[in-house]
Amino acid sequence: MSALIELRTVGKTFSGGKVALEDVSLALQEDQPRFIAVVGESGSGKTTLARLLLGMIEPTTGTVRYRGEDLAGLSGARRNAFRREVQAVFQDPYEVYNPFYRVDHVLTTPVRKFRLAATRTEGRGLIEAALRSVGLRPEEILGRYPHQLSGGQRQRIMVARALLLRPRLIVADEPVSMVDASLRATILSSLRRLHEEMRISILYITHDLATAYQVADSIIVLYRAAVAEAGHVERVVKAPLHPYTQLLIGSIPLVSTERSWVEDKPAAGRPGGAGCHFADRCPSAMDHCLSAAPSLFQVAPDHAAACFLRADAPALAEGALSSVLG
Ligand code: SF4
Repeated sequence: MSALIELRTVGKTFSGGKVALEDVSLALQEDQPRFIAVVGESGSGKTTLARLLLGMIEPTTGTVRYRGEDLAGLSGARRNAFRREVQAVFQDPYEVYNPFYRVDHVLTTPVRKFRLAATRTEGRGLIEAALRSVGLRPEEILGRYPHQLSGGQRQRIMVARALLLRPRLIVADEPVSMVDASLRATILSSLRRLHEEMRISILYITHDLATAYQVADSIIVLYRAAVAEAGHVERVVKAPLHPYTQLLIGSIPLVSTERSWVEDKPAAGRPGGAGCHFADRCPSAMDHCLSAAPSLFQVAPDHAAACFLRADAPALAEGALSSVLG
């Protein structure tokens, strides 16, 4: 059976030659919902990955497929089905709201547009149920204007909005980076509950390794447009194999959700060039790291790293990244 959504050797180069993502293959199956964190610094390619999955941009190489069909060629009913099944929750919920409309508007619009209910009463019932499922009380939310609600409430409304469409995948791009630390756990646990109770796959895009560790089952670490390491979150965080991940884990206390990643240094090479992207910062770099890019080596069934130090393990077959994500 075709995957719900699949990236096949996808790369993205923006105008000016900036390589944003290189050769990523990943498949998400409907009957095997996953909670995957995609972590990386600014410029690592994580938002490009999210936008490709959402069909907001097209790949330069490879294809993004929805239920076996190239996303770029979808139209009509198939495009609508994709828009229902694959939902986004973005970083800044305030941008989505029109300050002149009550917040009800962002909830009633998809009900109307996708004809989710036969009557207004039925639609209202769906909206109230979606709000409750993210821990909000409809009577405290409906009828208000965006500025009358907190950032956390606005973000949870966006999760409720995504839920209305009964999606199979939610791509959440930095959904908690603009809300108070005290509310982050509430929003992330809402996503976690949706994953467990409604069997929705969640792709949680973040720069914050600590929350990724707290909420996800598996993790993909991106570094300068390529996958550096991937696997079960416990393995990757407790026993990182890639020198970049080791550097990150050594520099971030996992109990904290406040600290950001270590600063990226100017690159000696560039994504798309020869050699390992991390070579200019790597304390273990060897001569051949500068001339050839490492494959992803599968060190354990649920753990792979793109580093020549792991080259005694078999190289992961093309397109097999999903297999190490559990
Ligand atoms: Fe370091 Fe070489 Fe591994 Fe790259 S391939 S992370 S440069 S040891």
